[in-house]
Amino acid sequence: MEKAKSHEADELFETNDGSVNSFEKMNNSIKYNPLFHRIIYLANVVIALIVYLAKLSNSSKDPKLNALQVFIILTVFFVIDILLYKVDYFISPKFFLGFRIIEIAVFEVIVALIPNLMIIMVTLCILITIFSIEFLLYNTDFVKDEIFIRRIIIIVIYVASTITGIKFRTETEMICFFLTQTVMLFAAYTIVDMVISINEKNENKIFKLTLEVTDIQDANEKLIEYQEKIESTNEQINYQRIEMQRTNKELAQVNKETEAQTKVMSFMASTFDISKCIDVLTESIMETKVPKLCAIYTVPDEYINKRGNFTIKTNYTSVERRLRKDIESIYQDFKSSAHESKIYTETELNRFKFIGEANINAVAILPLIEGKDLYGIMLVASDLPHFFEKGLNYYEASVAEFNISVKNSKLYLMMQDMAHKDGLTGINNRMYFMQLFDAAVKKTKRKKSSLSVALYDIDKFKTVNDTYGHLAGDAVIKTVATIGNRYAEENGGFVGRYGGEEFLIVLPDKSEKEALPILEAMHEEIKNTVVKHEEDVIKVNVCIGLTSYPNICIDPNMLINRADMAMYYGKEHGRGRLVVDDLDLIKE
Ligand code: GH3
Ligand code: MG
Ligand code: MG
Repeated sequence: MEKAKSHEADELFETNDGSVNSFEKMNNSIKYNPLFHRIIYLANVVIALIVYLAKLSNSSKDPKLNALQVFIILTVFFVIDILLYKVDYFISPKFFLGFRIIEIAVFEVIVALIPNLMIIMVTLCILITIFSIEFLLYNTDFVKDEIFIRRIIIIVIYVASTITGIKFRTETEMICFFLTQTVMLFAAYTIVDMVISINEKNENKIFKLTLEVTDIQDANEKLIEYQEKIESTNEQINYQRIEMQRTNKELAQVNKETEAQTKVMSFMASTFDISKCIDVLTESIMETKVPKLCAIYTVPDEYINKRGNFTIKTNYTSVERRLRKDIESIYQDFKSSAHESKIYTETELNRFKFIGEANINAVAILPLIEGKDLYGIMLVASDLPHFFEKGLNYYEASVAEFNISVKNSKLYLMMQDMAHKDGLTGINNRMYFMQLFDAAVKKTKRKKSSLSVALYDIDKFKTVNDTYGHLAGDAVIKTVATIGNRYAEENGGFVGRYGGEEFLIVLPDKSEKEALPILEAMHEEIKNTVVKHEEDVIKVNVCIGLTSYPNICIDPNMLINRADMAMYYGKEHGRGRLVVDDLDLIKE
């Protein structure tokens, strides 16, 4: 039994197409379940023994076998059947079928030869029927042609047995025997037909189930396919979404940069103050690009910035301090190389001492160029090593705008300078001087401060012109103007060319007492100055008239007149004099 089960299990496990092959299962159960026929077998043996022991044979015509012989034959076959089962004889279908047909034939012969042993005959017939069914179905796979051949074999045995058995029977026994044989055959065939039809039904069911399973599998496959497609589409959508988010971010950054650049550009276009432009530009870069440091250095320029400019935006205070020291040499190094933007990373950063221990991993230097001249650099630094990996376009565009702004400012300031300055002496012309003077007066009034004004005129200048020529005269005018200008600037004042060789000098916040020593020193220097022109050595003197608000002159509008009067007084009284205005002068 256990063996049969294990084989059945093996068979089932070998079925690997996923569907339960019930056909095989049924066939196997017929092959390998010997329980029922063994009970009948044993019953036959027992009955034969009982019949023998109880001498239950009824008289008949010449029986050929007695109960003992039947018992022995049955026992022998029963034992052989069990032994063969033990050695798995059913594995070889031919052997199994051969043994079965021998059993059927032998039992049929027994049945034919024991007309007097009715009980054994009946039980043996049942066993023969079972064996016949087994023989008809075993290993046929329900192939009808195969079963048909086996039917013929069975019929032949039955018929042979019937013919043999008839001889040994009375008429009544003969009829009984014939009927028994017929019923047996009929029973066997009917059961086989039933099994075949059940199998067919099952097969149909299995076929339908298989179809359904196949359909479901197909549908599953399609579903999996769709699922995969959906997953890959989802993945693509996700990827596209990420791409779009990235692009949006980049666009937002570009917008931000463009907006910032436009603001800086419009600011730079609105002013000629380059220091403010530098401030706004560096601030804008810090906000938009968020580097760790942004600095602009410009060399001194007569118009833009006489002392040069260095603006730095950073949170690294120690770096700021060091860079202030190093910027000039960084500029000089850069100046000696090709004037092109450059990015420095890794070991290239070693050249910049200003970095120190600070977390700076990328530096970019951009040239500030006007025409062909380098006039400064922009330096940007970041803690991120790949900060400039997208290039320096943004910074270069900003620098280009800044360069234009510088050029425009310079042009404007030059024009303005030309409009303000006297062509010969380079000091303020009369028109501009008057503007400065008005402003100084207002400021003095507001501050309730003092304002000293002096007017000086070269003595006997006509003679200079006449003696040395006009060009020599020009040189003298230039020298005297320059000396006056220097004294004014050194003392927070300003000068102007008032007439041909007449100059005005204004000293804000200076009373006449404070102004006097300054003018005396100036007078002294002019007197001692020797103007060399070609071969000539020219010495000049000036007459200076000094007045002051409010100590001497309470009306600021009268200051120039009063200074002129004081100077005129000097001319009248011997020339080469410095005359301080007072009321007595007017009376004289
Ligand atoms: P005084 O001592 O009285 O001032 O005598 P002066 O000769 O200087 O007299 P005045 O101030 O009247 O003469 C000024 C002269 O300066 C007249 C003019 O020819 C000359 N002059 C004015 N502008 C220039 C100039 O730009 N270059 C030259 N070379 N001479 C000039
Ligand atoms: Mg003169
Ligand atoms: Mg004069």
